[in-house]
Amino acid sequence: MSRVVYIDEDECIACGVCQDICPEVFKLDDDQMVAKVLKPQGGPEDLIQEAIDSCPVTCIHWKD
Ligand code: SF4
Repeated sequence: MSRVVYIDEDECIACGVCQDICPEVFKLDDDQMVAKVLKPQGGPEDLIQEAIDSCPVTCIHWKD
């Protein structure tokens, strides 16, 4: 996989949806203020895409 996933942390509202869908890749930080990418190239691509499609503020993106 040549592309990686990243979160625009300024836009994230820490809803937790991405973590619920794909906890291998996404995790809320310890004070639950923002989501972080644990493994940019890890995790099933279909679940990463589902998280991207489900983020309520569309702040998860692919980067080539
Ligand atoms: S789904 Fe979007 S807004 Fe919600 S925690 Fe994940 S990155 Fe943040």
